[in-house]
Amino acid sequence: MINIVLFGPPGAGKGTQAENLKEKYNLKHISTGDVFRYNIKNETELGQKAKSYIDKGELVPDEVTIKMLNEIVEENMDSKGFIFDGFPRTEAQAEALNDLMDSKSTQIDAMIALEVPDEKLVERLLERGKTSGRKDDADESVIRNRIKVYYEETAVLKEFYKKENKYYGIDGVGSISEITERISKVIDQL
Ligand code: ADP
Repeated sequence: MINIVLFGPPGAGKGTQAENLKEKYNLKHISTGDVFRYNIKNETELGQKAKSYIDKGELVPDEVTIKMLNEIVEENMDSKGFIFDGFPRTEAQAEALNDLMDSKSTQIDAMIALEVPDEKLVERLLERGKTSGRKDDADESVIRNRIKVYYEETAVLKEFYKKENKYYGIDGVGSISEITERISKVIDQL
C-alpha cells in the first residue's frame, strides 16, 4: 500500500490535489471534512455531533473523528492505499493513525504539506465561499479561527512527521497542475 497524508492549512488546496492524485495513483481519498459535511446534510447522529464545532471553525473532538476514520479505513482495506485529507489534525489523531496502520501491517509513507501564505488562504476561502455553500467559508472570522486552530493544534504535526523522516514541504502557490506535478515527484520517489 501507499499511504499519504496530504497536509496544510484550510484553503491550501488539499481537496483539489487529492482529486487529481487519487485518479493518477488509484488511491482511496478520505476527506474527513467531506465525511462530516455528508453526515450533517443527512442529519445523522455523527453529523449532529460535529455540526456545532464545524460551524465555529473548531475541531471536532478526537474521539469522534478517530472512530469515524477507523471505520472508513476498515471498509476500504481492499484499496491500493489512502490519501488522508484533513486527518490527522492533532497529535492524538496522528498517534491513532500510526496505530491503525500498524494494525494493518502497513504505514504512512509521507506527509506532503502544501505551503501557502495566510493572506492567500483567506482570499481563496472567501472566494470558495461564494459558491461552496459552506457556512464556514462564508464568514471571515470563522475562516480566521480555522487558520488560528491550524497553527495552535495542527501545525505541530510537521515535527511529528519530520521525526519519522516522512515530511515533504511543497510550494502550494501556482497552477493546479503545477502543484500536482510537484506532489507527484515526491510520490514517485517513495
Ligand atoms: P478546511 O481544511 O478547508 O478547513 P475541511 O473540509 O478539511 O476544511 O474541514 C472542515 C471542518 O471539519 C474543520 O474546520 C473541522 O471543524 C472539521 N474537521 C475536519 N477534519 C477534522 C479532523 N481531523 N479533526 C477534527 N475536526 C475536523
